[in-house]
Amino acid sequence: MNDITSMPALMLASKIKNKELSVTEVLDQQLKVIHEREPLYNSYITIMDDEAQKQAKLVQQRIDAGELNDSPLAGVPIAIKDNICTKSVRTTCASKMLENFVPNYDATVIEKLKNSGVIVIGKVNLDEFAMGGSTKTSYFGPSKNPWNTDHVPGGSSGGSASVVAAEQAFISLGSDTGGSIRQPASYCGLVGFKPTYGTVSRYGLVALAPSLDQIGPFGRTISDCTAVLDIISGHDPKDSSSVNIKNYSYMEALVNDVKKMKIGVPNLFLNKDLDEDILNCFTEVVEIFENMGAEVEYFDMDKLKYGPQAYYVISCAEASSSLARFDGVRYGYRTNDYDGLTDLYKKSRSEAFGDEVKRRIMLGAFTQGPGNYEAYYNKAMKVRRLIYDEYQEAFDKYDILLSPESLTTAPHINYNNNDPKDKYRSEMLNVSVNLAGLPGVSIPCGRDKKGLPIGIQLIGNRFDEKKIIRAAYAFEQVKPYKRPSTLI
Ligand code: GLN
Repeated sequence: MNDITSMPALMLASKIKNKELSVTEVLDQQLKVIHEREPLYNSYITIMDDEAQKQAKLVQQRIDAGELNDSPLAGVPIAIKDNICTKSVRTTCASKMLENFVPNYDATVIEKLKNSGVIVIGKVNLDEFAMGGSTKTSYFGPSKNPWNTDHVPGGSSGGSASVVAAEQAFISLGSDTGGSIRQPASYCGLVGFKPTYGTVSRYGLVALAPSLDQIGPFGRTISDCTAVLDIISGHDPKDSSSVNIKNYSYMEALVNDVKKMKIGVPNLFLNKDLDEDILNCFTEVVEIFENMGAEVEYFDMDKLKYGPQAYYVISCAEASSSLARFDGVRYGYRTNDYDGLTDLYKKSRSEAFGDEVKRRIMLGAFTQGPGNYEAYYNKAMKVRRLIYDEYQEAFDKYDILLSPESLTTAPHINYNNNDPKDKYRSEMLNVSVNLAGLPGVSIPCGRDKKGLPIGIQLIGNRFDEKKIIRAAYAFEQVKPYKRPSTLI
């Protein structure tokens, strides 16, 4: 076991601050572990060895000059999902389309991290354009789950989860459009946080479905995630959906107290083909919360079952428009051989997009076509409103909601991710949270018979991050983080 890379991020930062460790020493250890383990997991698309060394030297100088005293994570290495733009470092979205795309600017989240002295060490794998739940649709091949390499790490932010679990990064960023932070976090035994829509700037995030997308952190503990959230959240004039709310100090919510907290458990989440081990684990979680003094109540939320249908209509409609810019002219891949402009568009897009991306673009274009707009898109938007209202009613009664994170643990790497029925069904627990713009956090709560991690999800009302952070923190005191038993 590497004593440095297995440490929680906040502990590492305090050792750097106290001069027990230097930033370069930490980075050297981190890069060593990355290169050793990468052949096992295939989680990095780009490792930024030289660039990270440069950042480390500068950050050490800033720390020595006392400039980063208030920064909770100065000197800590972070991995970034490869759909978030990094200046002068290629940003591929795990697609042949953007295989050689090098942005000339940093996303707002990257700027904020660098200003706080966090060291960006690499770009990590995902499903192509964040479409999927396994990393199997990545042009660069799937990543592996550090708990068992025969299983997927989940997705779409599978690389972001895999690297933190495998200690190839202390923390990471992912994006969540319909569960893509929370689901891989639960498959890899981590904490994954999807903030309220509008809390974190999307400027520089390659859009999948802009009304649903939100960037958020992965960590081994809720405290590490919260520290990242403190850095990356806040109003950004460059993102028109970014919200200006005053108090962003989430760290003050790290309090071990859920007495009298009212927790609602939607019944629907429990009776849809839930894996037996997950149900048992979930029942134990409920007891833990009750023993800590929370009041847990089961209740009905029937409209959520329409979530996946509404989600796919809306997200595919938005994706078909977001991805229209990849036409072989302005960005990305261009075919070698074409006859006129239409042929250039057709061939470039046909050759560079994978099957899942094409499927969604076609579905999205269809639902917005003549006559279909009313029948599909508009109806989905109405369902979205009903789901939002149903959540608001729930939050009139409860402080937070609690559910299993996923219907199963991480599937075998050979599972058929092209079966829409199976794939879309398993997303029921996640997508409605995005449709309603709510914050959700996935935290580890145990393991199934195969030894794979199980996660639960805590959902809060809009801008009520602090309540789910408090509940997650209290829970973590009873069930602390466990590293994968497979790690040396
Ligand atoms: N798995 C979901 C999908 O395929 C979620 C994607 C995401 O959140 N980026 O759409």
